[in-house]
Amino acid sequence: MIYLDHNATTPPAPEVLAAMLPVLSDVWANSSSQHGPGQDAKRALGAARATVARVLGCKPAEVIFTSGATEANHLAVRGLLAAAAPGRRRVVFSSVEHAGHLRLARALRDAGMAVDLIPVRPDGQLDLAAAQALLGPDVALVSLMAANNETGVLMPVAEVAELSRAAGARLHVDATQFIGKQPFDFSRCGADAVSLSAHKLHGPKGVGALLLRQGVALVPQTLGSQERGRRGGTENLPAIVGLAAALDLLGDVSLEAARLATLRDALESGLCQALPATHVWCQNVPRLPGTSYLRFGTLSVDVVLQRLDRLGVAASSGAACSSGGSEPSHVLGAMGVPADEALAAVRFSLGRSTTLANVTTLLNTLPALLEPLFNPTRNP
Ligand code: PMP
Repeated sequence: MIYLDHNATTPPAPEVLAAMLPVLSDVWANSSSQHGPGQDAKRALGAARATVARVLGCKPAEVIFTSGATEANHLAVRGLLAAAAPGRRRVVFSSVEHAGHLRLARALRDAGMAVDLIPVRPDGQLDLAAAQALLGPDVALVSLMAANNETGVLMPVAEVAELSRAAGARLHVDATQFIGKQPFDFSRCGADAVSLSAHKLHGPKGVGALLLRQGVALVPQTLGSQERGRRGGTENLPAIVGLAAALDLLGDVSLEAARLATLRDALESGLCQALPATHVWCQNVPRLPGTSYLRFGTLSVDVVLQRLDRLGVAASSGAACSSGGSEPSHVLGAMGVPADEALAAVRFSLGRSTTLANVTTLLNTLPALLEPLFNPTRNP
């Protein structure tokens, strides 16, 4: 199989499994217990927290382990909002946040909260002037992703951090697609809170973290004594150890980023050459190195994915969470892409396992399978 769906999830690295297995079998005691095995678990938890903090540039006390990015996003938005001054009741999201996160935006709106969405331009980049216009003294919180999961477009976190600070609003950043793919340092990113998820960076599923800047008030959403009272529930120690191992493996991500950008560019130019109806979205704006979002004319993505499947290639129709449905992507909708084009959207997301041979195989086989669909008379 040629796996080109790394933005949906990544396989756990062998080193991650090696770190988790002994914890699963031997370090199963509750880290809140006073006895020896409990203290062993507590030490393992502390060591994992220290690793996460070292790799991400934060203090250990700034790490709140969660069940993944969805929970971290909810904790940040609901928790920061509940702690905001009474006069600050407005929340600002970008219009291209992850589908799950936009559901939270709708739920807040349904509950009577004022929620604004920052638009994006037709090239997928955030409309900073619109962001500035939305940021007034009644804004409690801005929630912005660092990189879009569909287009890969990088969002102007530093600029929005500046605007948020000037307006006295908190900034939450969903860095789920960014961390592991681009250099990241919490102490310099300008956000008050940052979400991440292990399974996007070769860690296990069901674990992630919210990094919360020291001194920033947050009302916990799950009550209990764990995580300094900020997220109750017995810690999922094997998964947390897996997250730490996955982060520890990253090293200098810019080397891998350069490798992936080269492969991605070769894929895009090869497809455009072989199939002139190919259109690549967001090709000329800063974006994640391994993400390619394109359409072959208006060929239905279901047909394309079927052909890819025949070739043993796993790709996606935009956000994995909405695949299977026939709704056009909200991200492309926000960019003003017409529905017939959006319903043709294919996302290739390259990653650690992707090789030049994978790209060559795809370029040698896919055009021949799709070509007849453009010229049906040639292949009755
Ligand atoms: N935010 C973004 C940008 C994502 O891509 C995803 C995963 N598709 C999530 C949040 C949700 O992450 P998790 O699966 O850890 O809940």
